[in-house]
Amino acid sequence: MLKESVMLIKNGYLALPGEADFIKKDLKIDQGKISEIADSIPGDADIDATGLEIFPGGIDPHVHFYDPGYTDKEDFMHGTGFAASGGITTIVDMPCTSDPPVSNAANLEHKLEIVGPKAHIDYGFFGGVSRQMFDAGFHEDMDSIQDHVLGYKVYAVSGAEETWGALDHFRFYKVMEHAQKLGKIILLHAEDAEYVNNASEHFKNLGKDAAHWYAARPELAEVLAVQSAIRIAEELNADLHIVHVGTSEAAALIDRAGTEKISGETCPQYLAFTLDDFIEQGPALKISPPIKKSPNDSELWELLSNASLSFIASDHAPGTPEEKKPGDIWCNSAGIAGTGTMFPFLYSSGLKEARISLEKFLRIISSAAAERYRIDDRKGSIARGKDADLVLVNPKESWKVDEKQFYSKGKLSPFHGRTFTGKIHKTLVRGGLVYDHREGVVGDPGHGRFIRPKKNEGGKHA
Ligand SMILES: [Zn+2]
Repeated sequence: MLKESVMLIKNGYLALPGEADFIKKDLKIDQGKISEIADSIPGDADIDATGLEIFPGGIDPHVHFYDPGYTDKEDFMHGTGFAASGGITTIVDMPCTSDPPVSNAANLEHKLEIVGPKAHIDYGFFGGVSRQMFDAGFHEDMDSIQDHVLGYKVYAVSGAEETWGALDHFRFYKVMEHAQKLGKIILLHAEDAEYVNNASEHFKNLGKDAAHWYAARPELAEVLAVQSAIRIAEELNADLHIVHVGTSEAAALIDRAGTEKISGETCPQYLAFTLDDFIEQGPALKISPPIKKSPNDSELWELLSNASLSFIASDHAPGTPEEKKPGDIWCNSAGIAGTGTMFPFLYSSGLKEARISLEKFLRIISSAAAERYRIDDRKGSIARGKDADLVLVNPKESWKVDEKQFYSKGKLSPFHGRTFTGKIHKTLVRGGLVYDHREGVVGDPGHGRFIRPKKNEGGKHA
């Protein structure tokens, strides 16, 4: 355990913001913060990082850890431990895949009491607004958590209509209008409800294979939803973020909107796989929205590298073996265990294979999400005064993904068997060691801290 209040990491190659290449420097940590970065700092090394690259901790701004409520799928201890093993030091958990959901202050308080003692890494929450909440009068609920959540997630189409219904255009407009008054961002699951619901009825009668699931939610369904959401956000001049974009045409629409107020993310699964892989792998690659046809994958790489898409997220959402067993694709639970493979994938397939520059890698894995969700005063880069969230990587070591070794409760991964270059040796959260490649997840659960967004400029709330 490395828990001394002052700590020295020497001889490592630092990935510093805005730099084109790694720079060999020593780094000092004091009380969990980065206190000094210099060519040489006197004193004995607590960590000798000779031959290792040192990155800012990854931020995974989109996970479903199902805690409390559905902990047979995942819980905060296994989810945050898996994240740490993959170089993630901060996650943001989605609101509606826990019971109760993060929809008001009482529920958020309840969730904090349960997940706080389990967290290995730092964590934030998104609030959410469902159709049911809307119809019951949603303003007070949104207001009650505004200082504690990083944004509000809503659905254009919902997989759980009876409990957490989607918002139609009118309700979406009204929720966005209120979020704007609070100075908050709306996150949208963007697939057109009319298209998807009707196409699902149609294709359910035609078959139970991966191709039928895809056919009910093709590229067009995502494009239609993104198009109208952007138009509504423009009407209000409001902040909108489209989650898990898998269609390059939809990502291009975000770019064409031409404003920082409208952004999007993609996920490793959309970059690494195509519809053909889904048809071959079945349940391991069933996600929502589904994997799209080639060449969406290569086009998304392009859009990520030119910043049309701001950052990457795992959309970690494992299912139990029973829920993910082969058979009827319509009954299979959507989602993969992905928070622990995101950083290694982006490092190996992005940085190492020269699809993205080092500068871009740092934006995509950490600083862009930190800025978008207003936690960049503490997170997002290696800089004096910031939290000492660090990932030490051996760039020369290759390793094979083995889903059985995942710290997550989810043991099914489309990346199983893939070889990645770059092995994570250590992950530190605020100077505390949470993962070591020889020992696995170390340290006590409960080390992770709850992260609120910084106040709006001038300390006032919008
Ligand atoms: Zn999700």
